[in-house]
Amino acid sequence: MTAKEIRQAYLKFFESKQHHIVSSAPIVVKNDPTLMFTNAGMNQFKDIFLGEAAAKYPRVTDTQRCLRVSGKHNDLEEVGIDTYHHTMFEMLGNWSFGDYFKKEAIAWSWELLTEVYGIPKDKLYVSIFEGDEKEGLPRDTEAYDLWKQYVPEDRIILGNKKDNFWEMGDTGPCGPCSEIHVDCRPDDERAAVSGKELVNADHPQVIEIWNNVFMQFNRLKDGSLQTLPAQHVDTGMGFERLVRVLQNKASNYDTDVFQPLIQFISQKAGIAYGADEKTDIAMRVMADHIRAISFVIADGQLPANNKAGYVIRRILRRAVRYAYTFLDLKDPFLNQLVPVLAEQFKGVFDELSLQQDFVQKVVLEEEVSFLRTLATGIQRFESYTKKQAEFLMSENAIDLEKPFEDAWVYSILKDQMVISGEFAFELQDTYGFPIDLTELMAREQKWNVDMDEYHISLQKQKSRSRAATAVDTGDWITVHPDPETEFVGYDDLEIETKILKYRQV
Ligand code: ATP
Ligand code: MG
Ligand code: MG
Ligand code: MG
Repeated sequence: MTAKEIRQAYLKFFESKQHHIVSSAPIVVKNDPTLMFTNAGMNQFKDIFLGEAAAKYPRVTDTQRCLRVSGKHNDLEEVGIDTYHHTMFEMLGNWSFGDYFKKEAIAWSWELLTEVYGIPKDKLYVSIFEGDEKEGLPRDTEAYDLWKQYVPEDRIILGNKKDNFWEMGDTGPCGPCSEIHVDCRPDDERAAVSGKELVNADHPQVIEIWNNVFMQFNRLKDGSLQTLPAQHVDTGMGFERLVRVLQNKASNYDTDVFQPLIQFISQKAGIAYGADEKTDIAMRVMADHIRAISFVIADGQLPANNKAGYVIRRILRRAVRYAYTFLDLKDPFLNQLVPVLAEQFKGVFDELSLQQDFVQKVVLEEEVSFLRTLATGIQRFESYTKKQAEFLMSENAIDLEKPFEDAWVYSILKDQMVISGEFAFELQDTYGFPIDLTELMAREQKWNVDMDEYHISLQKQKSRSRAATAVDTGDWITVHPDPETEFVGYDDLEIETKILKYRQV
């Protein structure tokens, strides 16, 4: 099955179960100050779950474009390194608003995966919520008993609150969830392990594809749980992962979702995909990032120096630097991927092909502007680390003839290999290197960045500005408007989350 057919089959299947097919919401969230980008299919239905809006249809299904580069869900660092976390991905979903519940949801996921898609039953295993006594949360025995009809018991794994209980925030709708995983290891390898050992979350060929959330409770301010009068189902399946499973590939990037992009990059760079791990990662990162960049721009958010616009600028600069350093693509290139992508998404998300020229032009301009300072910035970075390395060697009385990369030298110097925050700030201020790009470059050469010092430098330069206090509470951040606050800088590692920290004045 092609990716297009797989997507279509999902929607058709749920349509045959009386679901109304709805459109994806934009990836950029404009009317919710607590969420910057859509990070799950259910976002557009938040008000229904909160009881603040009525559902138009009791059952709906769609494919939602999502972005996970900030807040609770930040997968940016995995992208390109592993083969199944993307910045932008599609989440297939089906919902019941006070209509069907666990019995139908479980039966239909099983029917779809094994009968429509034909995934061998012995490759699937599921997880259910084990309960949490301390938090007063019961085990989901109902889901366990339902799964038992389809799956041998040693393939029903008990999961903890972190993986198998969903909540929107500290209060509000919440409930247990049941995940479905596929073990894509070769048959003989799979046969050698028993059910319980399948929970090898780190194995690159054992991947979670689908999450079924059962919104069963309402958590009150005092922490107690109330059973919701109308219970809901919210499911999300990673489309690119599903395609990988059905096309029998070892990586999402080997499917027809990503291959057109990868092939285009590989041709332009004159380097075969698969030739080398470093160039492969660079190609995967670019193929991934251009999707995020293009859809965010198409949905109305231009690259900028703050907020959502800065998130997208950072992702773009990250991609440009991968192309420049590892694929030797020194001229603007990323923008050429926009037409390739637009072609792929015709008839799925037409927003892109309809604005293809505009999106391409924006990306091109961004590339041109960053490429003006990129080379000098990289040179500055290289000469800084070289000088620091020499300094550390002589400080530690190490023979300068020894290569700095030597394992023994590294074992002695590793704790001292710190890039000053002031220098990181200079790279940002003068050469437009977002801090996470500097951190990434540092990490590649086993250096750390002094983030405390970086923040001090940043604060020194920041002018006073007024805004809001943000508290991270889960899938959404709660924003309390407070005029008596002053901006003092971005939150450490979460600069991308735009969770700004403010100090009372
Ligand atoms: P994982 O544990 O793999 O990070 P998750 O538990 O964070 O996934 P959910 O929030 O349950 O993911 O989202 C529902 C589905 O969306 C997942 O089962 C997975 O198939 C898919 N998914 C989640 N994050 C990504 C991502 N970054 N890229 C591609 N697909 C994803
Ligand atoms: Mg995750
Ligand atoms: Mg998970
Ligand atoms: Mg999950």
